[in-house]
Amino acid sequence: MYRPSGSENQKGTADVYGDDIASVLITQDEIAAKTKELAELIAKRYPADAPEGDLLLVGVLKGAIFFMTDLAKALPIPTQMEFMAVSSYGSSTSSSGVVRIMKDLDKDIAGRNVLIVEDIIDSGLTLSWLKRNLSTRNPASLEVVTLLRKPDALRTHVDVAHVGFDIPNEFVVGYGLDYAERYRDLPYIGTLDPKVYS
Ligand code: 5GP
Repeated sequence: MYRPSGSENQKGTADVYGDDIASVLITQDEIAAKTKELAELIAKRYPADAPEGDLLLVGVLKGAIFFMTDLAKALPIPTQMEFMAVSSYGSSTSSSGVVRIMKDLDKDIAGRNVLIVEDIIDSGLTLSWLKRNLSTRNPASLEVVTLLRKPDALRTHVDVAHVGFDIPNEFVVGYGLDYAERYRDLPYIGTLDPKVYS
């Protein structure tokens, strides 16, 4: 049962989704500390008064929303935000690398410093496609930051400038990541109890 309260744990494992969450892999505090660390590293690469203008964060909907907004708040330089939605064909838990744009960027990125903000890199196929697609639009620079990466699941090489956490090859939810559109609202990254899939 959901109990709205001021407590940090109001979306704790047992409160909202019963026993669907098998384990907490990365806590809310660990995510916050890592985001701050990444923001400091990223800011060093982009001077606040760069001739290319403000750093343009490109978030991939919907999973990257939580990370993107927290990262933007933590970055000690001016940033702007754009969003793309892409759909990878495949099963609910694995990608095929065939990607369709569901929502494109609203703005031209030519001449801009662009930082793709990803929630998770699994096979790497979606990101690899996205990087190729955005690079044809002539940005001044194009780099990637991802909160999570599964090194054992990678099926293609993609250059990623910043990685928050390398995690085991398990399906995770929370902090923007869903299973059938559920669990995005959890403030931590957790694994699902197998009963949820069956
Ligand atoms: P990739 O193309 O790298 O295999 O996967 C890209 C997309 O698959 C991610 O952006 C994410 O939407 C989804 N995905 C991959 N692994 C996971 C996972 O462990 N949990 C969730 N919720 N989504 C995942």
